[in-house]
Amino acid sequence: MSTVNAYGASGATEPLAPRRIERREVGPTDVEIEIRFCGICHSDIHFTRGEWVEIPYPAGPGHEIAGVVASVGSEVAGFAPGDRVGVGCMVDSCRECENCRNGEEQYCIPGNTQTYGSVDRDGTVTKGGYSTRVVVDQDFVVRIPDGLELDVAAPLLCAGITTYSPLRHWGAGPGKQVAVVGLGGLGHMAVKLAKAMGAEVTVLSQTLNKKEDGLRLGADGYCATSDKQTFKTLRGRFDLIVNTVSAALPMGRFLGLVKTDGAFVNVGAPPEPLSVPVFSLLAQRRSLAGSGIGSIRETQEMLDFCAEHGIAAEFEKIDASQINEAWERVLSSDVRYRFVIDSSTL
Ligand code: NAP
Ligand code: ZN
Ligand code: ZN
Repeated sequence: MSTVNAYGASGATEPLAPRRIERREVGPTDVEIEIRFCGICHSDIHFTRGEWVEIPYPAGPGHEIAGVVASVGSEVAGFAPGDRVGVGCMVDSCRECENCRNGEEQYCIPGNTQTYGSVDRDGTVTKGGYSTRVVVDQDFVVRIPDGLELDVAAPLLCAGITTYSPLRHWGAGPGKQVAVVGLGGLGHMAVKLAKAMGAEVTVLSQTLNKKEDGLRLGADGYCATSDKQTFKTLRGRFDLIVNTVSAALPMGRFLGLVKTDGAFVNVGAPPEPLSVPVFSLLAQRRSLAGSGIGSIRETQEMLDFCAEHGIAAEFEKIDASQINEAWERVLSSDVRYRFVIDSSTL
C-alpha cells in the first residue's frame, strides 16, 4: 500500500480539498501509473455531489487519466516503465459475462468497476484520478500514441470515447447528417470526431455565443436551441443526434429533428428522468437510445484515430487550487472545452 496526494470532497455540498489516499500494492498484473494530467468531466460533479445516487464520503473523482508507467507487476508484458498510458472510466469488469467475452466490458452485465466510487476486487472503493498515482490492471490501461501529447489526450479517455463509440455504432460518415447537442467537453469532441468520420455536422447549442468556435472545430452548421425557429428549420433533418447535455431537454422538440428511421442517442446523464412524448418516436419510426463510454479496444482505436487525424481536445490547464472554480465554470457552461488538472500541483 502507498499513500499519495489527491483531491476529494468530504460531503455532497463541500468543496474539493487536498487529501491523502491509499493505492494498493502493485500486483502481478498491475500497472502503476504516475498521473500527469486528469481531465474534469461533468460526471465528476454529478457523482461527487451525490446527484445520481447517494455515495459514501470522502469521495474523489477523475476518470480522464493520462500519465507515464512508473512500475509494472511481474506478469505484465505489454507495458514498461516510461510508457505513455491512459485510463478512462473503468478499471475492471467481471471478464466472464457475455459482454465481457465479446469485448464490450463497458456493458459488463454485473457492472464494470468504475475508476471512482466502485468496489474493486480487493474490497476497497476506487478513488479516481484527481491524484498523483494510480494502480490499474493491465487490461484496463491504454497506450497513448506518440502523436498525442498527454495533456490533450487526457480528455479523450472519457469525452473522446463516449462520443466516438455512438458515432461509430450509428454509422456517422459521408452522406450522414449528424447533430451534436451541447458544446461542452463531450460536445466539442463529438464535433471533431464526426467531422473526421466524414459526416455533415450541426451544433445545437443554447445560444450562438460559441458559434465561431463551433465552426472552427469543424461544424458545418450552428443553431441556437433558444430560438424556436431552429426547430422548424431543422425538422426531420438528422440521421443521428448525439445529445451531450447534462440536464433534461424538452424531448418532443428535439426528437422532431430526427429523420425517418434516425436515432437520438443520449450520452448526457442528467440525474432527472427525461419525459418522452411517444408520438414523436412512432411518427417517423425514430429510435431513442443511450450509449455509455466505450470498450477498451474501442478506446485504443479512438486514440489511434485521433493521432492519425490530428484530433486533440481543446483545454484549459489548471492547478489543483483551481478545481472548485473550474467546476463552477463547467456548471455555468463556461468551459472551453475541457479543464485539465496538472497533477504535479496536487
Ligand atoms: P459539459 O462540459 O458541462 O457540457 C454540457 C453542455 O451541455 C454544456 O456545455 C452546454 O452546452 C449544455 N447544457 C448544459 N446545461 C444545459 C441546459 N440546462 N439546457 C441545455 N443545454 C445545457 O459536460 P460534459 O463533461 O460534456 O458531460 C455532459 C454529460 O454527459 C454529463 O451529464 C455527463 O455526466 C455525461 N457523460 C456521460 C457519459 C456516458 O458514458 N454516457 C460519459 C461522460 C459524461 P451549450 O453551452 O453549447 O448549450
Ligand atoms: Zn466522464
Ligand atoms: Zn462482465
